[in-house]
This record gives sequence, structure tokens and C-alpha cells, in this order.
Amino acid sequence: MTELIVNQAFPENFIPFNRPGPVGKELEYIARSVESGHISGDGPFTRKCQQFLEKELSVARALLTTSGTHALEMAALLLEPEDGSEVIVPAFTFATTALAFVMRGARPVFADIRPDTFNLDESRLERLITGRTRAVVPVHYGGVACEMDAIMEIARNRRLRVIEDNAHGLFGSYRGRLLGSFGETAALSFHETKNFCCGEGGALLINDPALVARAEIIREKGTDRSRMFRGEVDRYTWLDLGSSYLPSDILSAFLLAQLEAKDKIQAARKRVWTYYLRNLLPWAKKNDVRLPRAHPHREQSHHLFFLLLPTSESRERLIRHLHRRGVYAVIHYLPLHLSPMGRRFGGAKGDCPVAEDISERVLRLPFFNNIPDADLRRVAEAVAEFKV
Ligand SMILES: *Cc1c(COP(=O)(O)O)cnc(C)c1O
Repeated sequence: MTELIVNQAFPENFIPFNRPGPVGKELEYIARSVESGHISGDGPFTRKCQQFLEKELSVARALLTTSGTHALEMAALLLEPEDGSEVIVPAFTFATTALAFVMRGARPVFADIRPDTFNLDESRLERLITGRTRAVVPVHYGGVACEMDAIMEIARNRRLRVIEDNAHGLFGSYRGRLLGSFGETAALSFHETKNFCCGEGGALLINDPALVARAEIIREKGTDRSRMFRGEVDRYTWLDLGSSYLPSDILSAFLLAQLEAKDKIQAARKRVWTYYLRNLLPWAKKNDVRLPRAHPHREQSHHLFFLLLPTSESRERLIRHLHRRGVYAVIHYLPLHLSPMGRRFGGAKGDCPVAEDISERVLRLPFFNNIPDADLRRVAEAVAEFKV
């Protein structure tokens, strides 16, 4: 649906697309978690991760979840759409950006993307808004911020709620303000392909303090168990919708080690991104290939590095060329409005021409925190051998 299958067994010498990179203290923290006797949710490591995120991002509350998808599901439960309410999502994103809201009865309305950032095109937002529109879900593709000034202004004027899918952009920023701090809520993912990971995991960031109490209930199977743990009530009971969205404290232990190495991880990602950019620029210019770049008013999180080939045919040829040289390059999102599920909501070819075009020409290079220098060189050399 989104990527070629990755992380299967690789032949020797194969450079995978992704490999999760422990940074140091993961095993020590996991051992401590096991020894502590508290390995279910909301133990000491979960609390530390949440405090870290709240402090770094200046959000009212951060709640770790079992995945980024589950954080989006919580955001959708907090939104309470009615059957037929509409939620605007970019056409070029992961399925669950839309699915989480569809599961609550909403209809996804697919917005086309900008050709420069591949983010939701804010200039098309107004005309997608109807009397039923409840929310817009900007995705900061690759960790490059959406045009948040424009999106927030439209949302204010048209009384839409904003929910950020910030699965790519933790610690990226827009005009000095960190991503995830704009919407009423924002979702993070700690899946092993993301900048910071714990295998499977995520977080819901909550900026509207009025939503915090209900979010805690939703995350605890619809009960007020969180309040009981804080000693605010002496028993807990079923109050609302919800599910089991707490990760085990063992996973939070892994994640805390990653978060504490924030500067190291960010620097590692910037190094990979900068290496590719510097070493591929001459080849890209000669071959009419577009590379990522810096964008004004934004610090990016360097989540990925793409090549935008001039044609879909040249992309397929380059992928095969790289696979032959042991380099596992992958495509990215197939437009959601053209997926079998998207078509059930009326999606049709031509609805989002930019997303349709980009989706056929974009390719991503192997990108992970501790990819060795020798592998970076091999990837760059293999790409540079290719004539478009
Ligand atoms: C990874 C991702 C998700 C889902 O995160 P999981 O933790 O895998 O559930 C959602 N949206 C985007 C844009 C993503 O990249």
C-alpha cells in the first residue's frame, strides 16, 4: 500500500532501507524496567518520556500510545465526528491519517499537495470546506513543516479543528515553533522506521488543556484509572469510549534512551541527509532529478531523503539498478484517494493531480541513524552511475 516490502531477509552486503539504531542505554533501561516490577503502562519510564516531550515541545500534555495510528485514533475520539462529518487529509500520506477518522464515522476529503514540499496545499483548502467539515489533518512530510500560518488562519476563520500528523517531524519547527504544538492535538510515531523509535509506539500531544482529562480516560479503556493512580479517586469506573492505548513500560524504557539522545539522533539524521545532498547534487542537476532542500522559516527533522525522477519509467529503472547494486531504495505513498478504500469515498483519478504525479516519480534512499559511512558512499556511487 505504501512502500515496497522492506526489512525482509537481505542478501549479505545489502544496504537495507531502514535499520533501527539503538543509541546506548536501551538495554540498560529495559533491564531496569523489568527489575522494577512495573512493566505495564504508565510506569516510571512512560512518565519520564512524557515529561521529556512536554518540556521539550511545550505542550500541555503528552501521552505515550501503542502506535502513531492509535494516537490518531485518540485524536479522532476526542474530535467526536458525527456520521458523515468530513475531515480533510492530504492525498499523499499513510493510510491511518485518514483511517483513524473513518473509524469514527467521518468521511475523508482528500486534498492535493504542494509540488515543493509534498505537504497539503493550503491554497486548495478553502474550496474543500463544506458545512460538514470538522477538521483538517496536516502531515509534515519528511519532517518539513506545512504552511502553518495559512492553515491555522483558515481553520480559525472556518471553525475547523487542526490535528497534526507529526509522525515524521518530531523536533522540526515552523517559524521557530516546534511541530506538534500547533493543532489541538498532534500524533507522533515511534515505529522503527521513524527518527526516534521503540519498535512500535507513538504519542498524542495535547495543546488544548480542556481535552486532557478526556484523553486520559480514552487511553485507559474508557475509565478514570489514571486519576486513581494519582490518588484523586479511590476506585475507577467506566466513563466513556476508549481502548487500551498504553504501551508497556518496557517499550517506554527503550524510547527514553532514544529521547535522551535527542541531539545525537538529530545530528545523525542531518549527517545522512547532508551527505546525500552534497554528493548527489551534480548528478541530479545533470539528470533533471529533484532533491530535497532547505525551506525558509523551517528547521526540518531530516526524516527521509527522496529523489524525484523526471518520469515514472526512470524511477522504476533506477530502483532496479539500485537493487542490483545491493541498495534497497523504496517508493513512497500511493495516493490515498486512488486506493480501493479511498475510491469507496469517491476518490477518482485526476482529483489530486500533484499527488498522483509525485507518487509515481518519488524514490527514497536508505536512511537510518547509524548507517555507516561506507554504505552512504556505496549508495551515492550507485545512484551516480545511473543515467536517467
Ligand atoms: C508512520 C506513520 C503513521 C503511523 O504510525 P504508526 O506508529 O506506524 O502507527 C501515521 N502517519 C504517518 C504520516 C506516518 O508516517
